Amino acid sequence: MICNRRTAAKTLIAGASAVCGFPAIAVGQVTSSDRRETSPDETIKTRVCVIGGGSGGIGAALATARAGAKVVLLERESVLGGTSTMAWVHSWAPVSGANGIPRDLYTAMKKDPLAVTFSNYDEGAPRRGGHGLPFEPRALDYVARKTLDATGRCRTLLNTTFCRARMENDAVKAVEAWFSGKRMLIEADVFIDCTADGDVCADAGCEYHMGEDPKSLYNEPTAPEKAEMSLNGLTLCYRITDTGVKQKPYLPEGVKEDSCPLPVHIVKMPNGDLLLNPVGMIGGNAVLCMEYSELMREAHRRVMSHFYQLQNLSPDSGWAWPVKGKGYGTWSISGIAPRIGVRETRRIIGEYVLNENDCRAGVRKQPRRDIIAVSDHAVDLHGHKGRLYELPNGPYGTPYGCLLPKGTRNLMIASRAASFSHIAASSCRLSRTMMTLGQAAGAAAAMAVAQHIGPRDVDIAKLQFALQNAGVAISI
Ligand SMILES: Cc1cc2nc3c(=O)[nH]c(=O)nc-3n(C[C@H](O)[C@H](O)[C@H](O)COP(=O)(O)OP(=O)(O)OC[C@H]3O[C@@H](n4cnc5c(N)ncnc54)[C@H](O)[C@@H]3O)c2cc1C
Repeated sequence: MICNRRTAAKTLIAGASAVCGFPAIAVGQVTSSDRRETSPDETIKTRVCVIGGGSGGIGAALATARAGAKVVLLERESVLGGTSTMAWVHSWAPVSGANGIPRDLYTAMKKDPLAVTFSNYDEGAPRRGGHGLPFEPRALDYVARKTLDATGRCRTLLNTTFCRARMENDAVKAVEAWFSGKRMLIEADVFIDCTADGDVCADAGCEYHMGEDPKSLYNEPTAPEKAEMSLNGLTLCYRITDTGVKQKPYLPEGVKEDSCPLPVHIVKMPNGDLLLNPVGMIGGNAVLCMEYSELMREAHRRVMSHFYQLQNLSPDSGWAWPVKGKGYGTWSISGIAPRIGVRETRRIIGEYVLNENDCRAGVRKQPRRDIIAVSDHAVDLHGHKGRLYELPNGPYGTPYGCLLPKGTRNLMIASRAASFSHIAASSCRLSRTMMTLGQAAGAAAAMAVAQHIGPRDVDIAKLQFALQNAGVAISI
């Protein structure tokens, strides 16, 4: 589905009711006639403004500040880390190319012995032969804030929600945000959208796609013939702890025993807890047609059903591998993530769209030379067809053009909403890859403001050189 600000409300509603079987809700979109310019309570002037403080945003703000430019980082939650800290996806899957900022932050987290499960960062890469790197969410938030503060150039505004981009022709002049009833205006030379949903780009009028692209668009080998509205599945992650005492399995009234499929990704936390990610919990299209409170209520019911099934599992079942021979009988739920994990929404169309052909070709055979990050996670579509396969030719690169939304002069994107096809996004969206894209966007933004040029005019060879000096792997 192809949308921009003017078409989005209509198509989202139509798409949602067509695919979900739930009543569609109105999706609010700003139109040019709504655009009043009200006086702010506070105006902040900076060189670079990063919107969204998750994986991409942390990378972008830190790289900007380290490269010598002043940056403001806006985050709507009271912690940094985004999906990693709020949706409890606090385990970095093994992937190549995750050097640079993710390595720095992990090294800082390791100083707290209860923050990480494994001390050797290199075991978390590459994809083949590596294992995940679980960490406590509080540790990522703490080291990210501390590292950003230490630069002396980053002002982090937590609990501050972006609501609008003020445009002047094809440039973002400022963004408006709210903090506790205070209207803030942040003016900058370069803006980096790290909201995960591409909210800033969409508000600025950039074109975006949602759902599966048709084969005709990028000639991807495994794309369907026709476009389909099928978003990757949603998951509410939860943690369990061993009480050492037999627990009575509990299913709340009205919750069906089998309302959540059992497949589960299990990770051991530093304190011995298990972090559970019940993959395939809720179809991804639900974000288009359910209100968040209803979605969360349904996800909670499914967590209860999921754990009830684990408690009743045979101790020798495959899903009981961490408690083999004992089962989950003495375990109890110790917490449920505050936010539901969303894998996919908008994908903003940039100067280049990374697609399955790039992922399959591998970095040495890709046609583009403006590579700023590499990765090699499997293509993992948690959509209704659930396709999953490892890449045949190892790591591939993300070109700089994927960070440059078409039609804007000073707006960049560094998040899972960057310019990827539906299939490429399902491989590329990993937390550390997003952080590395953020690092590239931040380094480029700092270069642009230092030279009084736009992000499009940055010298790619110099950018790649700066990234390599900062430890980022650009070739393998
Ligand atoms: C269930 C699940 C399991 C996953 N498993 C893994 C895994 O095992 N390993 C792995 O590496 N990756 C995994 N991923 C993928 C990965 O976690 C995400 O793709 C990645 O974290 C996205 O990073 P991001 O920076 O794009 O977005 P996020 O980290 O979500 O950051 C976006 C930030 O923007 C903020 N924001 C949004 N709107 C506004 C606004 N209006 N104003 C201010 N701030 C705003 C949000 O609060 C958030 O902090 C998983 C994802 C999910 C959902």
